[in-house]
Amino acid sequence: IPASFLHFWQAERLRAANAALAQARDELAVAYDRLQHQARRDALTGVLNRAAFLAELDAQSRAGVHGGLLFLDVDHFKSVNDRFGHAAGDQALGRVGALLSALSADNDLVGRLGGEEFAVFLHQASPERMLDHSQAIREAIEAIDLASPTGTRIALGISIGAFHCAPRFDPAEALAASDRNLYRAKSGGRNMVVA
Ligand code: GH3
Ligand code: MG
Ligand code: MG
Repeated sequence: IPASFLHFWQAERLRAANAALAQARDELAVAYDRLQHQARRDALTGVLNRAAFLAELDAQSRAGVHGGLLFLDVDHFKSVNDRFGHAAGDQALGRVGALLSALSADNDLVGRLGGEEFAVFLHQASPERMLDHSQAIREAIEAIDLASPTGTRIALGISIGAFHCAPRFDPAEALAASDRNLYRAKSGGRNMVVA
């Protein structure tokens, strides 16, 4: 084999190996991005998981923005599971998550804090917009059209505790305050907003 051919052949192999390496690196970067996205999301509802929501809320506070913090809890959800089954309950939670996401603006945060409890942060919202948005969520959840496997309508209600956060708010205190208002909404009869 002439030396020039050997050289050409080796250079070709090197080029092919480099191209394969570059492709593998690109695929790894895409997989890493996807993994990072999944690690921040709740698998059932698609909204931020608890840890990601709390981290983002912290970041909003540090950025000096104000806004409305909503603590939401689906009413009598244990009874939804008991009457229609856990799978239907899961479906209902998925619909609630999708609805909260659909109603939120780009800079708002939507998270599932656990079980049937969600939280929303309305970026730069006034107290009035916070209340209007809370009522809109409550009404939209009431209007969710979901049927059980036997065709019975699964009616949902949600209680919402809202708290308006001033710039540099303390995230833990804001969550505690909205949770207190949620408790008032529950004890006041459920399916209502308390701010
Ligand atoms: P309240 O109006 O006082 O909030 O009553 P509730 O029944 O909603 O509250 P409770 O805390 O008694 O029950 C919450 C239920 O949510 C119990 C639990 O089985 C159910 N749950 C929590 N996580 C999930 C889930 O991921 N899927 C389903 N299907 N149910 C869940
Ligand atoms: Mg609860
Ligand atoms: Mg509940």
